[in-house]
This record gives sequence, structure tokens and C-alpha cells, in this order.
Amino acid sequence: ARESARLDERTPASAALYARARQTLSGGVASSYQVRDPWPIYLERGEGSAVWDVDGNRMVDFHNGFGSMVQGHAHPAITEAVTARITRGTHFAAPTEDAVVVGEELKRRWGLPRWRYVNSGSEATMDAIRIARALTGRDTIVKVFGSYHGHHDYVMVSIGVPYGEIGDRDDLASLPYGAGIPQSSVDMTIPVPFNDAPAMERRIERLIAEGRKPAAVIMEAAMMNLGIVLPEPGYLEAVREITRRHGIVLIFDEVKTGLCIAAGGATERFGVTPDMVTLAKALGGGLPLGAIGGTEEVFEAVESGKVYQVGTYNGNPLGVAAARASLEKVLTPEAYAHLDALNEHMVTGCQAVIEEFGLPGYAVGVASKGCVTFAPEKIVDYESFKKYQDGELADLAWLYNMNRGVFMTPGREEEWTLSVQHTIADCDVFIDAFAQLAADLTR
Ligand code: PLP
Repeated sequence: ARESARLDERTPASAALYARARQTLSGGVASSYQVRDPWPIYLERGEGSAVWDVDGNRMVDFHNGFGSMVQGHAHPAITEAVTARITRGTHFAAPTEDAVVVGEELKRRWGLPRWRYVNSGSEATMDAIRIARALTGRDTIVKVFGSYHGHHDYVMVSIGVPYGEIGDRDDLASLPYGAGIPQSSVDMTIPVPFNDAPAMERRIERLIAEGRKPAAVIMEAAMMNLGIVLPEPGYLEAVREITRRHGIVLIFDEVKTGLCIAAGGATERFGVTPDMVTLAKALGGGLPLGAIGGTEEVFEAVESGKVYQVGTYNGNPLGVAAARASLEKVLTPEAYAHLDALNEHMVTGCQAVIEEFGLPGYAVGVASKGCVTFAPEKIVDYESFKKYQDGELADLAWLYNMNRGVFMTPGREEEWTLSVQHTIADCDVFIDAFAQLAADLTR
């Protein structure tokens, strides 16, 4: 109650804007994921590692646009590229040289030869799945239970449910995530547990026996929607082998991991190359841009005209100008070394607090991404995540953060994202806020 009252006192201008916004914007926000209790914090500007809200509170940004701003806010190289582009026209629906250069760099980083653009992560996963379906002539897809791949019907399935309603490990439930998803779409999306290749193979074999061989397996190589769940050794290699043997397209959704956990994303970090990859978030450096990469065989379905991969704003000149500057000047090998060093400081600092105060949990991190997971044992999949849900602790941590100059995502699902413009001093603001929470909790 004390922390809630303190946040209310700090944010009267957000409260006033919320009252006004509700007269026009549904729920006072631009997206349901921006809803906050008692009101959203409305931001005014961002620069480097910090953001300022409409009350003038300065906060170090660990939210970073749901993990998009690994470049930091208003990075001079990106600002310069976008400003130069604005004066020469921002939209043609015709390709520009920047689109080619960005594609060449993504090809080098991911080792996948063909690329296309979209405008968001949802469009990337939707188009990737459609291409896989066109290529194979099959409808069913397999996804990991608890993974979020965007807001279209194909994948708004089995993302989150109350504990106990998940189903048997070998027969996890296909459940719509919210209303408005046609049952026919839900039925075509089959969930399997993360970190369990034998369970995936058993489910695929059953689908084949039922005459429903999947077109694709879509997954994050490291889950980034349950805090962070890393793949156990050998898991990704086994998934690669199973999908290849059965002729199923393997899609790594790297909307969160891509450009955030290595120059070439999870594909590089874990050394397993899928048939297709989806990118968005950090790719655009703050502009809406997504991309799909794939093998020549996969993209033959597009190049032959068998499937349409289209969009008025695909490859928008502003987006690809930002991405080019980002890839050439910002997300360099030195940048990843800096991120690794910063994150090591974050993880070590948070882990020390956990141990000092005997909290149930552990810190986990990879390059720019990390989190504290409140659970007495290691989370390996959705089932174990759900078993140890301590939403109250996560909510309290968010309040402590906001009141101490740390801008963070609420809840247990998201993680911190560091930017190349963050410093060790910025990380210490986060660690200090966490230490104060731990001290008050155990007092
Ligand atoms: N895929 C993953 C792994 C994501 O985390 C998200 C968004 O959080 C998406 C896809 C959807 O991206 P967007 O919100 O840009 O549509």
C-alpha cells in the first residue's frame, strides 16, 4: 500500500492524461498490453538509457519498448539516418538500396540466404507460417506451450492458462488466448512442452498417424515469455533433427532473441540453424520493421508465386534506413561485448541480493536480456513456470522499481533489456532497487 501510494503521488500528470485518454482511446491506451493499474505511465521522451514520463520523472529504461530498444533511445547514428531519409521521402512501396543492404547483413549474420520484410513480429510469424503451409501443402502447426508469437489467429493458442488446465504432457490442450479466435484455427495449432524433444516427437508421430502431419514447428530457441527459459543442452539439436527427418519446416521466432542475444540471434548463440527465422522488435531500432529469413527451398514457394508475401509498408524506407544504421554502426561486435559485460554485472548483482536475503529465486541472463525468476527451482517449461507463480512478488518488484527510477515491464513474463547506451551505474540503480525490496520483504 505504501509503494502504491508513492507511485500515485509521483504520477499525477499520468493520472490526468489517463482520465482524458479514456474519453477517446479504448481503455486509455494504444494496446491492451499498455494497461496498468491504477493508470498507465505516459512517457514524454527517451534518450540513451533513460525515459522521462509526463510528470518529469527520469527513469533508467529496462523495459526498452518490450525489448526493442537494444540500441538505446535516440541513438545518434539512427537519428541521423532516419532524419536524412525523411527529407527524401518516407514511403514508396518500391524497394530501396537500404532494403538490399539490410538483407545482405541479415543473410551474413543468420546464414540464411533469402529475406523479406514486414512491419511487426506478428506479421513475420503469420507470413512464415503461411509460407511453410504453402511449401508443404499442410495445415497443422506445432508450437511450444506458453510461447507468444504475436496476435494473429494461428498462434494466439496455448499461451497462458491457470495452472492445472494445461493437460497431459503428451496431449497438451489447444486453448484460445482470449475470445475472437475461431475454433478451426485453435484446432490447427498443437502445443508441446519446451525442453522435451521426445514429447515433441511423440506428438508429431501421433499427428502423422492421424493424417495431420504438421507443416511447421514454430518456437523460440530460448523462451522469452516466461521470464527467460534457456534450452537444455542438446534440446535444440534434437528438435532440428526431428523436424528435418519428418520434413517439417523449423521456424525460430527470433522477434525477441534476434539482435538482442547475439549479432546473429539465438541461431548464432546456440549454433542450430532453422529453415526459417522471424525478426522484428530490435531490427527496426525503434521503427516498426520485421523480417523473415529462410532457405532457398522455403522461399521457392514465394518466388514461384505459389504464396503471396505482401504488404503496402513492407520494407518501408524509414524502417530499413534505421535498420541499416543500426546493423552497420550500432550493433557491432564491440556492442555485444559491452552488453555481455553489463549483463554479467546485472545477473551477479541480482543473484548476490537473492542469496544475501534468502529469496526464493535466481537470476538468469543472456547478452542484453535477463530477469529474476521467483521460484524455488529452475523453470524449464510452462508447467514449471505456472507451478511457482508468485505474481504478488513480481507486482511488488515493479512498484519498487517505478518508485526508484527503474522503468520496467510488470509481471513475471517479461525480462529486462539492456541497451548499448546503458552503463554499469544504470545497472546499479536496478540492483539497488531490488536490494531495497529484498530488505523490506525479509525485515
Ligand atoms: N514473437 C515473439 C517471440 C514476441 O515476443 C512478440 C511480441 O512480443 C511477437 C512475436 C509479436 O511481435 P509484435 O508485437 O511486433 O507483433
